[in-house]
Formats: sequence, structure tokens, C-alpha cells
Amino acid sequence: MNRHFIRAGAAALLLASAPLWAETLPLKSVNKAGDVIDAAIEAYGGAEALDGLQRVAQKQHLVTFATGQSRQPGPPWDRNEVKNFSAIDIENDVFVNRTAGEGGGFVFEGGVIINGEDSWQLDYYAGTAAPLAEPDFDTQSGPFIRVTAPLLIKQLQERRQTSHWLGEVEVDGRPHDVITLVMEVGPGLALYFDRESHMLTHMERVLPPFGQVEYTFLDYENVGGIPFSQKFKLHVNGEPNLEMNVLETQVNQPLDAWVQVPDSLRQVAEVRPDDFSSQEIDEGVFLIGGNNTYTLFVEMDDHVVAIGGTQIVPDAIKELRKHVADKPVRYGVLTHHHSDHVPGAAAYAKEGATIVTFRDNESVVRDAADDANAKLQFVDQRLTLNGGSRAVELYDIGPTPHAEHILIAYLPEEGIIFEADHFPQPLNGEIPPAVPATVAFARALDRLDLEYDTLVGAHSPRVAGPEAVATALRRQPANAGL
Ligand SMILES: [Zn+2]
Repeated sequence: MNRHFIRAGAAALLLASAPLWAETLPLKSVNKAGDVIDAAIEAYGGAEALDGLQRVAQKQHLVTFATGQSRQPGPPWDRNEVKNFSAIDIENDVFVNRTAGEGGGFVFEGGVIINGEDSWQLDYYAGTAAPLAEPDFDTQSGPFIRVTAPLLIKQLQERRQTSHWLGEVEVDGRPHDVITLVMEVGPGLALYFDRESHMLTHMERVLPPFGQVEYTFLDYENVGGIPFSQKFKLHVNGEPNLEMNVLETQVNQPLDAWVQVPDSLRQVAEVRPDDFSSQEIDEGVFLIGGNNTYTLFVEMDDHVVAIGGTQIVPDAIKELRKHVADKPVRYGVLTHHHSDHVPGAAAYAKEGATIVTFRDNESVVRDAADDANAKLQFVDQRLTLNGGSRAVELYDIGPTPHAEHILIAYLPEEGIIFEADHFPQPLNGEIPPAVPATVAFARALDRLDLEYDTLVGAHSPRVAGPEAVATALRRQPANAGL
């Protein structure tokens, strides 16, 4: 006891003899970040102009490259065009977004209104408006803030205590200071400021397991005394992912017109958060997941077959163990090669399971499995996994507008089908009109002549049946006019 006390005392003495105000590494880093932020505030019109900037509305034209999300597993990636409108009222936590485009066998004509208790999800394709039970201003507005430099500077202004200076680097032959920003939601950002102009030119963040996202801000133009970049590029792991051209920017205009739900849309059931859940949809058949990602587990005589490869797989296996304690997961079936449908490969490899996929997807799957000894089995059109008293049949229903090869799982005894990305099912409420991917899926079911009464998917806990597919095909897009 005594000795400890003496030591502590000695340490205190040592500290006291050194100048307490010496700049430690963290202190230096915070101070330097402060200097960079102050210079940026001046470059973006000054503190007063930025304080006065409370509302921004912007029309954008986007070209997207479906990196890891194209019909083929490798480049060149599919290219799509998207029209976008975003508006934010920072003072009142109001955010509005409208998006229209097509890609991957889907049609997007939707939007969101975040306005306190009067918040909505809009679907112009279906012609519906759903109240949002738990609107989240920070999560919804984050993507717009991250591509709008003056809004990032405002974030730095408000959250300067979270910023650190990371160092100085050269970008395009010009020296830059790099500082960090931690927003309310999401991983930390690294912002690159040109040492001479003090303008934000680049930004980076790391999003495991997808990799590094790089932002480039180009062609600044003054709008109401504040520079806004008119062109923006996004790269994912060094590959182009998005190019945006700003068509129009308005500052400090009222958003009243945009927070109204258009008369052309019908109100439907409210959108609730998708909590983690486990459902036994038939004896020994479990649909487990949450947050719009689900895995199907089928209990065989002496093992388990898992279907679906999303990020939820490790948590889903943990949950499965509460229901099926002792049988190994022998097969992990990946529906297709898309970046959100292969992370589960790593969990399957860890379980010692054989990963079932297509030969064309081998390199994508091996990368995701991150295990040199991962066992792969390839499907050529169809494969039956026999497990004693029951079987799981796998069918390649590709090519579809969504993917060149895509597996569905069919349990013939139970009449259950599991699909991914072809039959979008909202948690509750109306089944929307079919998109091209859904039409291809329905045609494949007809062609294969599979008898089923239960349809579940990788992105919803909802259990539907053939009547839901018929409804989707019957319904006409609303063309409600975005
Ligand atoms: Zn997909």
C-alpha cells in the first residue's frame, strides 16, 4: 500500500517538473485541426454566413456505377442515371429527398420526408405514402451532408471538439491538411483541405466490410456568398461509383412545399423499424435476421443448410444455436455475387461449411470468405442438397435483369421458396407493383413449375405466398409523377 503511494507521489513529482503546457501529440492534433477549421470557415464565406446558412435545396443529376452490384460479378460495372432532389432545414431537423432512376431490375421513384411526427416514406411507383414510425433525421440527412461541402464545414464548426489533424499529404500536386470529423451517425470521416485555398477537395471514410469510400469535390461556385461544389465524384475501393452534377442550388428558401405529401399518393401502413427476430416458418425451418437482412436455416437429419450471404449471417447463426444446438452448418448457400450478399461467406468458412455458389463468382466469394481453405461447391443450373428426411433444391433462375446467375432455394416437401432481390416485400402493408426483376422471378417460377405456398426473402421478415406475386404482377405502376 505504502509503496504504491510513494510511487504515485514520485510520478506526480516528475510530471510537475516538466512544463505542464507542453503540447502533447493529441493536444497538437486538436489545435492544428482547429486552425484548419478556422481557415476553412473563412474560405466558405465566414462564420456569420455559415451560421446564417440554415436551409439548402439542391437538384442533382447522378451517374452511378454499380460496383459489386452489377449483373456480372466483375467490371465493367453497370451504369445507371438517377435524378435526385435533396433539401435540408438544419434549424428544424427537416430533411426531404426525392429520387428517380432504374437499375438492377428495379425502378426507384421514391422519397422521404423527415419532419418530426409528420414524417413519410413516399413511393411514386406504387403511388403510396407510408408514415415513418421512427424518423431519423441524422441517418437520413447524412448522405446529403456528406456530398455538400458547406454543410460539412458547418458540421466541423459545431463538432470541432471531435476533430483531429492527421497530417499533411499531397493530392494532385498540392499540399493538403487532413483532419477528421465524427458525425452524429456513421464512421469517422477524413477531410482533405487545400493548404492554399483552404477548400475541401477530398474526403474518405472506411465502411467495413465494403471498404474505403473516397469523395471528390470539384468546380466550386458561389451561391449566396458561400462556395458550393457543382460536381462531385465518389470512388469505392479506387473504382468509380458515382458522379454527380448539381443542376440547381437554393439557399435559405422555405421548404414548406416539399414537406407536404402529394395528393397523388395514397396513405398506407406505417413503416416500423425492422428489429432482429427469429421465426420458425415450418418445423426446423428458421428465418432469422433484422434490419432488412435475413438468412434461412433448414434443419436436416444431422446438419443444417443455411441460405443467404448477408452481413447478418454471424448473428443469425448465434440465434440459430438457441433452437438447433448441436448440428453443424454444413452448407452456406450464397444467392448471388452482390457485395451485400457475400459477406456471410466468411462466417460459413469459419463454421467449416461448404460455400455453395457459381463458378463465375469464385473470386468474389473467395475474397469475401477471406480464408484460403474455404470449401466451395459450384451450382450448374440446379443442385439438390439431401439431408435424409428432407431436401433443399437450388435453382439458377438467371439471367435476370438483376444478376447473370441467381439462386433460389426450394423445399419441395414444405412448399417453401427463399429468394433474394427479386420480390421486394415491405414489412407490412401493400405489396408494390412488380419491377422488372419481379417479372423475371415470376416467369422463372412458372417455367420451373414449382408448387409452393410460402415465399420468404433475404430482405424481409414477411412470409407471403403465390397470391402476393400475383398481386404484384397485377398492379400497375402508379405513375404518380415525381
Ligand atoms: Zn442483388
